[in-house]
Formats: sequence, structure tokens, C-alpha cells
Amino acid sequence: MWYLDESSGLSGSGVKRPMSIAEIAARIDVGGRLDRDEARELYLDAPTALLGQLADRMRLRKHPSGIVTYIIDRNVNYTNVCVARCRFCAFYRPVGSSEGYTLGFDEIYRKIDETIQLGGGQLLLQGGHNPDVPLQWYEDLFRGVKARYPDFRLHALSPPEVIHISRLSQLAVPDVIGRLIAAGLDSIPGGGAEILVDRVRRILNCYNKATADEWLGVMRHAHQAGLRTTATMMYGTVETVDERLEHMFRLRDLQDETGGFTAFIAWSYQPQHTELGGAEATGIEYLRTLALARLVLDNFDNLQSSWVTQGGKVGQLSLAYGANDMGSVMIEENVVRAAGAEYCMDEFEVVRNIENAGFTARRRNMHYDVLGAPIFRERAVPRMLELAVARADGRAGEAGDLRGYAARSASGRKAREGQ
Ligand code: SF4
Repeated sequence: MWYLDESSGLSGSGVKRPMSIAEIAARIDVGGRLDRDEARELYLDAPTALLGQLADRMRLRKHPSGIVTYIIDRNVNYTNVCVARCRFCAFYRPVGSSEGYTLGFDEIYRKIDETIQLGGGQLLLQGGHNPDVPLQWYEDLFRGVKARYPDFRLHALSPPEVIHISRLSQLAVPDVIGRLIAAGLDSIPGGGAEILVDRVRRILNCYNKATADEWLGVMRHAHQAGLRTTATMMYGTVETVDERLEHMFRLRDLQDETGGFTAFIAWSYQPQHTELGGAEATGIEYLRTLALARLVLDNFDNLQSSWVTQGGKVGQLSLAYGANDMGSVMIEENVVRAAGAEYCMDEFEVVRNIENAGFTARRRNMHYDVLGAPIFRERAVPRMLELAVARADGRAGEAGDLRGYAARSASGRKAREGQ
């Protein structure tokens, strides 16, 4: 914590005292680094407008050009079958469920074709912890993608999925990452972080899929292997303010160590249809959390707006609370929609929101390199006014090409024997 004493000339008592919010604010503006007590004080007591102004000024120092970026990619959930059973998740289906699905390679290639038509160059590929999808399946899929679309990028498999594959294949995490990179993995998304505090993870039943140390460990290995990754936070379940801060400071520490994170994305827990239930955090809580993240995570260049969970209007407002990126144009969404949120913005709408807020809109890639002006100003692209789903016809079941891979679960083995 920063203290003022007599020698500073600002306190006449000679007794050290905590800094006031105004003093903390003044220090941030000249590049001072927040500690946890100060971050807590700001979060709990600073006026929302002041938090926004501080975060906006830090955003401006990092991005003086006035550019707000976004990416055209597609969020594909290759399977909803999952053994982890997180209490906050409305997306997964247990092994053997008649509603479980695993996409086939051809279905994924078709989604890539559609993404390229819209000007996109990347898939965000994540899914459940399916015991019947082995490492070889991912390797074959990634190689298949790269053979067909050499320039297309794969932002795939969050840390808990990497850990799941490591356990399934009985290979160490660095070996799994190495094999996935050799097959075509370009970057790892920061999903599955929830709150990086094991007390919270135990309550949410996501401790077994990855402890806080394990999640950070995967990211450390990925950064050491040369990958850039994102980091996320899902807040608003059972965590305290201090635990939210613990999460941010653990990310800041790892970023100090590796510099491998490209961006931070925070979203509020979406409670509908989940075992945990409860209520969603409000828009002000989102904006305060986002602004605080911008101030604590002073070594992160990019903060995304989570308009997918907050809606377009709060999403736009987040550009005044520290965000400099609108995330992805939404083509397909399955996970957040399962929990009740179904916001959709295509490129036209994302750009309209950026420009209306006074910024210049630019497309980017996964490394946050600017690619150019909005694609719809360069050529005609179809409007995407409805979100696509994993399978348009709602079919469940495995695609036939999984037949060639060994299943681990009893129901999976039986199903494949019967095929
Ligand atoms: S959040 Fe992910 S790991 Fe947890 S139950 Fe849902 S699909 Fe499985």
C-alpha cells in the first residue's frame, strides 16, 4: 500500500496513513502500480464515474490512436459432452445423454467456409471434457484444417481442456501442448479460469477440472512454448471482492513473468438453467469490475468488452470504462445462450457501436495486429442477424468420423461397437 508521511510534505502528522481515493487516483495517473488494499478501496468506495475516468485514461495511454479493434471469428463448440459438471454451466450434457453431440470434421470445415465468406480468419474452438474424444482426434482435426486452409488460425482448447486431454492421454501438459502446436494450434483461449481461487473453484465444482495453479500452469507452459493466450474471469457467483482481486493479481504476476497474455476478458456469471442458480450481476457491477481490471492489469495491453453477456448497449459503454476491443463479431454461440443470454451483433453493428462511441473501428487478428478497415466497406458480406448454433437441425450424437477413434467411456465404447 502507498502511504503518505511527513517527508512527503502532504501529511502534517508524521504518522503514516493510507492514501485517500483522490491520492490513489493521482498516483495511477502518473503510472503508479496498485496494490491489493488500494484496488479494494477503489472498487468498494470510488465513485463509478471516477473509476471509469481512471480506466479510460489508462486505456488512452496504451492506445493513443483512438482505435477500437474487433475480430471476425466463429465460436465453435465441438462437443457438449462433459464429465466436469461445473455448477454454473448450462451447456454441458453428461456422457451417454441423448442430447450430447460431437461435431464431425466436415461440419467444422463447413463452419470455416462460412466464416471465411464473412471475412473471418479464425475459429475459437472449445468444448466439453468428452472422454470419448482422444488427443489424436484433435491432432487430425487441426492438421485437416491447416491442410485445407493454410492461413486460417486456431484459437483452441482452454487450459482445463488441455488438462483433460493430458489426463486422458497420460501425457504431461507441455507434451500435449507441443503435439497440438505441431498439429496446428495457434493460440489458447483463456476460458475455464472462472475465479482463480481454489475455495471458489471447489464450491463451483470446477476445482477438479483445473485448480488455480493448474490453470496458470497451462498458460505458463503455453507462453514458454511461444503461444500467446488470453485470460478471462467469470465473476458474480460465490466469490468475495478479495477473491476477485486475487484472480486479477495472479494474472498480473504471471504476465510480469511471461508477457504471454494478449488480452483480458471479464464476464458476469449467467445463471439461467444452471444448477447453481442465483441472479446475474448488474451492469454497473460489470463496468466497475472492468474498470478495476484495467487499473490492476497494468501489464495487459488489451481489454475486451463482453457485449455477448452484457448486451450491445453496456458493451458499447465499456469502451468508456477501459475496454479497447469489442471481441468477436458473433456468428455462432452455444454456451452463453444455454444460460439465457442471446445477444447478436454482426460486423456492421459492432462497427456502428464503436464509431458512435467516437472511436475508429479496425479489424484485428488473434495477436491484436490491425488487419484493416471493416470488411463490409471493402466488399459485400452477408448480414448475420441471427446466431448460428452448433447444429442447425438440432441433431444430437457423434459424427461418423469419431468411429475410428478409441472411446474411453462404457457408453461411448458400446455406441461405437454398435455403429
Ligand atoms: S463449463 Fe466447460 S468444463 Fe464446465 S461443465 Fe461446462 S462444458 Fe464442462
